[in-house]
Amino acid sequence: MSYQRYADIIIDISHGNLDKTYQYAVPDEYASSAVIGAPVVVPFGKGSRTVNGYIVGLSNEPKIDIEKIKPISSVVEGAPVIESHLIFLAYWIKETYGGTINEALKTVMPVKKAVKIKKQRQIVLIKPYAELLDIYEEQLKKNNAARVRILKALIDKSIIDYDKAIKNLNINSKVIAWLSDNEIIKIDSKQIYRNPIGNQSTMKSPVELNSEQQMIVDNILKDYYDGKRYTYLIHGITGSGKTEVYMEVISKVVASGKQVIVLIPEIALTYQTVNRFYDRFGNRISVLNSRMSDGERYDQSLRAKKGEIDIMIGPRSALFTPFKNLGLIIVDEEHEGSYKNETTPKYHTVEVSIKRAKLTNSFVILGSATPSLESYSRCIKGEYKLHTLTKRAKDANPPKVWIVDLREELRQKNRSIFSRKLKMLIDEKLSKNEQIMLFINRRGYSGFVSCRSCGHVMKCLHCDISLTSHVNNNLLCHYCGYEERMPTTCPVCGSKYIAAFGTGTQKVEEIAKREFPGARILRMDTDTTKKKGGHQRILSAFANHEADILVGTQMIVKGHDFPLVSLVGIIAADLSLYAGDFRAGERTFQLLSQAAGRAGRDAVPGEVVIQTYHPEHYSIVTAANGNYDEFYEQEMLYRSLMQYPPAANILLVLISSKEEEKTENAIKHVADALNEYISENKLSSQIIGPAPAELAKVKDIYRRVIYIKDKNYDILVGIKNHLEGSFGYSGQFAGCNLQFDFNPMSTY
Ligand code: ADP
Ligand code: ZN
Ligand code: ZN
Repeated sequence: MSYQRYADIIIDISHGNLDKTYQYAVPDEYASSAVIGAPVVVPFGKGSRTVNGYIVGLSNEPKIDIEKIKPISSVVEGAPVIESHLIFLAYWIKETYGGTINEALKTVMPVKKAVKIKKQRQIVLIKPYAELLDIYEEQLKKNNAARVRILKALIDKSIIDYDKAIKNLNINSKVIAWLSDNEIIKIDSKQIYRNPIGNQSTMKSPVELNSEQQMIVDNILKDYYDGKRYTYLIHGITGSGKTEVYMEVISKVVASGKQVIVLIPEIALTYQTVNRFYDRFGNRISVLNSRMSDGERYDQSLRAKKGEIDIMIGPRSALFTPFKNLGLIIVDEEHEGSYKNETTPKYHTVEVSIKRAKLTNSFVILGSATPSLESYSRCIKGEYKLHTLTKRAKDANPPKVWIVDLREELRQKNRSIFSRKLKMLIDEKLSKNEQIMLFINRRGYSGFVSCRSCGHVMKCLHCDISLTSHVNNNLLCHYCGYEERMPTTCPVCGSKYIAAFGTGTQKVEEIAKREFPGARILRMDTDTTKKKGGHQRILSAFANHEADILVGTQMIVKGHDFPLVSLVGIIAADLSLYAGDFRAGERTFQLLSQAAGRAGRDAVPGEVVIQTYHPEHYSIVTAANGNYDEFYEQEMLYRSLMQYPPAANILLVLISSKEEEKTENAIKHVADALNEYISENKLSSQIIGPAPAELAKVKDIYRRVIYIKDKNYDILVGIKNHLEGSFGYSGQFAGCNLQFDFNPMSTY
């Protein structure tokens, strides 16, 4: 038996050991359907049981002995085919972040399975009008009421929706069969899409850009028309008009016949944001989000593939929209942690966007009010082009920011969580009938230990990262495993007010109710937003002035406009400052900048109170002054000193399993393999750990980590490949899970 075509196929079994391609012959009957990216069924292994796979390559030559090549059993019909450049992207993702090729392919596929396509049936009149009238008269005389109803409807309208006809005209399928048997009508079906936005079309003309905005647009478009492809970072405070810049550039890229992907953090993917794009681009946009069903997402991917839309808006996963002629990828709020995928492959959306742009001759625009250190340092190195918007587009005054020293409050015998300044301002705003937001930045809260009298924080001697308190009354470093006893008095000032830090939203709400008895208070956190729509309900109530004070976590500071808010109080800025990972200072700067941006968005001038034990800390001072450059310089100094990203790269290795001892042994085994590899290859990579993960046990799964630092990313990729290859998935470590994370965004 001879064949014309051969296909390289990836077998769809999520197991590291099967992570390679196999060649199969393509029988003639599949010659046209066997394309790159097509899902196939093939015989596999000794017993030739059938398994699923994907075609990742095609050739006219067999690579191995032709006798040994088996033919494909079938090409799966109707299943989504992956664009060939997305297959390359999947390879790159697997190589760069770890995991199997199957996990990577599943990441880039629009949906994981083919979904039944929803069809709408229509009754279409095919008889000439005059004849129809005759038939109508005839049936009227015969008193066939049901036939008369539908004939009358057809006289009014030559196309009727099938389901609606059955329901509204109260007829059955027999009546329709009679119409069709007599060649009065035919049944047509057209595919309909579940429209995620609705059908309002209120196309508005764009705003006139100010000179700063126009200059950025002109610069970017000049490169684009000259055929130059760069990555741009637009640095501009919230409200400085970044979105207007995006939309202007998008309109030109679309006009040149290309498509655009706009990525927004899920939390910012609100009705208001989407509507702004809808107002400008109408039906040519679509949206993906996590609340949509598989079917809805599949429909939208299909529309993108068929070229029925030009712009896809969505969170991280929208990056893989199967556009055929991509021109531009925008990543708004590029600093957001949610752009890092939390499951294997743990890819970073910005990096993958840039890779996809390279593969498709597209370009990338990143935007942020508080750019990540990674992106900003790339601008300084000249890898990205930096553009800055310096003022708010609609003239609003920047808020007045007060930093309150909580140590001083204690000295003045004020033990309340509200400083005197904050309390006074709350009373003042309440009396003026204005609104207040109280913010507790609890994310990353991990029980760090500090002194309420002098502000001293207990830190690891080796890592300059806060120690966290544990049940056994010890303090532990989750980077290196260093441990010490919990002190009973402060090692710096001797005060006995040293303890693990912690204030919850509930507690703040309680105390606020006590201290401001007349005020109406709403609370927004993971508890109160559990129910579907809870999030939106609370925000709407607050926007409608049904409450005076909104207490909440970082959820309340993201992208909502509340014109009556004239005061934002940050209860304890330190909570995120000492969160036990090296990004704590950056996260604090971002959160404080964002929170400050909430106050005084319109006519009412705003004030911000930041309460802290570290009023001199650069993250707090620079956020209060809105001085990003100063923050960047200080933070980079720390990262360079400690060799944290972006000064160096970090690879996290995580071992997890149900058995503590096995986990312990496995991580030791990895550490040994690692040390051996490093000395054999004469590398200078630094190994930190093994140590228990910060979340040392989750749902009865034990977790141990090792961190590896190196300036050279590729060396870390080499280490990852070596460990992936040498770690046995069976035998001694069966049941142990090995995971990698490059430059982690979250604590483990
Ligand atoms: P960002 O994306 O940086 O937060 P936006 O683009 O959302 O900023 O702009 C903030 C507000 O200012 C929006 O209501 C927007 O319509 C308006 N705006 C932006 N640029 C202009 C402009 N040149 N003229 C008038 N209004 C503008
Ligand atoms: Zn002290
Ligand atoms: Zn340490």
